[in-house]
Amino acid sequence: MSTDVNAGGNAAAFERAQRVIPGGVNSPVRAFRAVGGTPRFISRAEGAYLWDVEGRRYIDYIGSWGPMILGHGHPAVLDAVTRAARQGLSFGAPTEAEAELAEAIIERMPTVEQVRLVSSGTEAAMSALRLARGATGRPKIIKFEGCYHGHADALLVKAGSGLATFGHPTSAGVPPEVVQHTLVLEYNHVAQLEEAFAQHGSQIACVMIEPIAGNMNFVRASVPFMRRLRELCTQHGALLVFDEVMTGFRVALGGAQAVYAGLIPGFKPDMSVFGKVIGGGMPLAAFGGTRAVMSQLAPLGPVYQAGTLSGNPVATACGLATLREIRKPGFFEALSARTRQLADGLAAAGREAGVPLATDSEGGMFGFFFAEALPQNYNAVLATDKERFNRFFHAMLARGVYLAPALYEAGFVSAAHGDAELDATLTAAREALKG
Ligand SMILES: *Cc1c(COP(=O)(O)O)cnc(C)c1O
Repeated sequence: MSTDVNAGGNAAAFERAQRVIPGGVNSPVRAFRAVGGTPRFISRAEGAYLWDVEGRRYIDYIGSWGPMILGHGHPAVLDAVTRAARQGLSFGAPTEAEAELAEAIIERMPTVEQVRLVSSGTEAAMSALRLARGATGRPKIIKFEGCYHGHADALLVKAGSGLATFGHPTSAGVPPEVVQHTLVLEYNHVAQLEEAFAQHGSQIACVMIEPIAGNMNFVRASVPFMRRLRELCTQHGALLVFDEVMTGFRVALGGAQAVYAGLIPGFKPDMSVFGKVIGGGMPLAAFGGTRAVMSQLAPLGPVYQAGTLSGNPVATACGLATLREIRKPGFFEALSARTRQLADGLAAAGREAGVPLATDSEGGMFGFFFAEALPQNYNAVLATDKERFNRFFHAMLARGVYLAPALYEAGFVSAAHGDAELDATLTAAREALKG
């Protein structure tokens, strides 16, 4: 297959983009600000590989930040997308495929009785939040430092100065009043959670959490923390919202909620937010919960939510084809084993090199930290060795391995990553760790 090679390479592409797009990118992390250097401009992808505009090939561990769980250009997905496109790009009227995708999501997520489809994880989390407030009639929400739920105003918040105080906006353009009901707590801190509920319990609409946080690299909620979180939400009538935009259909077929249900008998969240994998690389996300909660949404109930392109037929076809493939017997066993092999291999390479390197994985998602032990919260993630991460990132990139360009991001393995890719990655890592 031919590859478009731009004479000026990545640098020229970046310069051109910077003239007309702020920072040259349409989502900040793509700009390589955290690690320095010139972002790679991608011309095409296939299987486990990306090619940049200089014709260089990389093993891809970003996978579009999660969606590409089958690898790039999976034939069943391409076929479904091209067939759907020929039938029409968008109708603004309901289609049967939307119900089929909703059924496919619900079938794999038994805590979800109904879903609504939207176009991005941001939109899904924002809508879930409005619905939680509408359904409970309460204003306050709890989130955790280091968890990302998209860029809706009320969720762009960092912790305030004192324990159980309300947060500060993390972005200009968000007035403090807009986040005055958002309480930001430390991840995995049971005592803070208890204090927050003791102070504000009757006012808390929901707690939103990334159950395995992938936006501060890879940090699991501990079992005692998750158990207590569930108890407190139930006791105070707050909804527990699992943001599974990253973990859903990624850490297991049943998402992180299946992982925690396996660790805490009877465990379930009240609402769930999905994205990334359910669109298979097209703009599609969803939020769902019990029929009672979801029936509060317009047109049935008083909570307004809408979207011109929601349930877009091409995106829906892409998501459906992706979910069909990952449901096949043995899919997750193989993906999990391969991802675990990578995480273990990286840790072994660290030991060999005498470099502190802690790694973890669940399903097709992994994390690695230049630290002696796995961090349990955001501050501990910040305390890991950033200089070494940046050196390692560039050393890997130079060897044709494309890792996330910031230490705050999880990594993703796809079904197209085979032994050859794994061996090449670990060989590169052993060399890179010498530097
Ligand atoms: C990616 C992500 C989002 C935002 O999704 P977008 O589609 O980028 O808007 C929300 N929550 C989590 C956990 C995510 O990883």
